[in-house]
Amino acid sequence: MKVVVLGCGFGGVEVARTLRKQAKELEIIMIDRRTRFGYLPSYPELLSGKVTPEDISGGLNKFATKIGAEFIHAEVVNIDFRNKEVKIKDKSKSKAEDKVRAIPYDFLVLSLGTEQTFFGIPGAEKRSYSVNTMGAARGTKNALDKLDYSKELSILVIGAGLTGVEVAGELVDYFAATGAIASIYLVEMMPRILPAFPHESVANYVAKFLSARGVKIMTETAVQEVIAHEILFEDGRKLTYDIIIWTAGVKPNSLLEKLDVPKLKGWLKVDPYLRVEGMDDVFAVGDTAYFERAGVRSGQNVEEAEKQGKVAAANVQSTIKGRKLWEYKPKNTMQNPRAFISLGDDKAVAYSSKITFKVFAYRIKKFVERRYMKRFR
Ligand SMILES: Cc1cc2nc3c(=O)[nH]c(=O)nc-3n(C[C@H](O)[C@H](O)[C@H](O)COP(=O)(O)OP(=O)(O)OC[C@H]3O[C@@H](n4cnc5c(N)ncnc54)[C@H](O)[C@@H]3O)c2cc1C
Repeated sequence: MKVVVLGCGFGGVEVARTLRKQAKELEIIMIDRRTRFGYLPSYPELLSGKVTPEDISGGLNKFATKIGAEFIHAEVVNIDFRNKEVKIKDKSKSKAEDKVRAIPYDFLVLSLGTEQTFFGIPGAEKRSYSVNTMGAARGTKNALDKLDYSKELSILVIGAGLTGVEVAGELVDYFAATGAIASIYLVEMMPRILPAFPHESVANYVAKFLSARGVKIMTETAVQEVIAHEILFEDGRKLTYDIIIWTAGVKPNSLLEKLDVPKLKGWLKVDPYLRVEGMDDVFAVGDTAYFERAGVRSGQNVEEAEKQGKVAAANVQSTIKGRKLWEYKPKNTMQNPRAFISLGDDKAVAYSSKITFKVFAYRIKKFVERRYMKRFR
């Protein structure tokens, strides 16, 4: 039996790892357009230089070899569900890059993550930097390093969700180390920062912490257009900028548009066992999947991607063996999210509906990162 895993982020890596633990005989093929896994929650720290790209990335080929799987460095361009084939374009230099070839599968698991969205705002994509991929985060860091520190700088972070808040904190650390004078703006369309987190008290704590470190928070401020050196807001205000870092919003992977399978708002609809609705041999996990149970939707975060990866792998095995499938039960949900939120200055706040703590939160977050990355060493 051949299981093909598309996307080797948190979800895909967990699928492959769990499958191998459960079944020595399975052929496992992992496909990704990158050669290295990236620990996304620590990307904001690339800006301040607290971590290097090497610290928070790991070779996928090495990982696959270690667990007895095959890794293919390729772009997935389409899936033929009827003939059970994935269409890929190899990215490895030794192979013909333009040729599309087919990889057959018995079982398929999609874990392709998200893409950044700029909501069609004119000039936003062209003129903004990002931290959503390793390449983008490195580009942002390079741009920061090239700024003219002799003048007062204006740096804008657009979107005050988890990533935006963390980026703002890291920027404070970055500029403190350079000695440059920079105004850091954290811009949010909603009435408060961290709008996806239901507890206002945590958002207030984070806002107070960042404000005390000099971050200028602008809520109820929607971007209308980005032009050279200036950002225009819907209410008529404008600001000059040296760098804009876009952290607002994600959308489904564009590959999903080509797939004729059940979707909701562009995400792949999965059944209680994480199979793409109506299919017995195709599973979806992580950010790609839309999982809802009794009105509760699974969150788009590392915890859910990993848990779903484990359950999908177990269900592939159960299907092969003719056993009862495991129902997925989300924990870190859209309605009840939990997270470690770094604030810069080696501080963080751990947040959930039951408990919030600050002491040791940053150390625990770093411990989790280091422990996770060991699997690639
Ligand atoms: C900057 C940032 C910070 C974050 N911070 C946190 C945090 O602190 N805590 C938290 O819980 N979550 C955080 N998240 C969210 C978390 O990283 C995601 O929920 C998680 O990575 C989802 O795992 P996944 O496997 O679904 O997707 P990913 O980990 O994104 O993996 C998707 C993989 O698919 C590959 N891929 C995509 N398309 C193709 C294609 N066509 N062909 C081949 N390969 C393809 C990509 O290269 C990638 O390796 C953060 C996200 C970002 C962007």
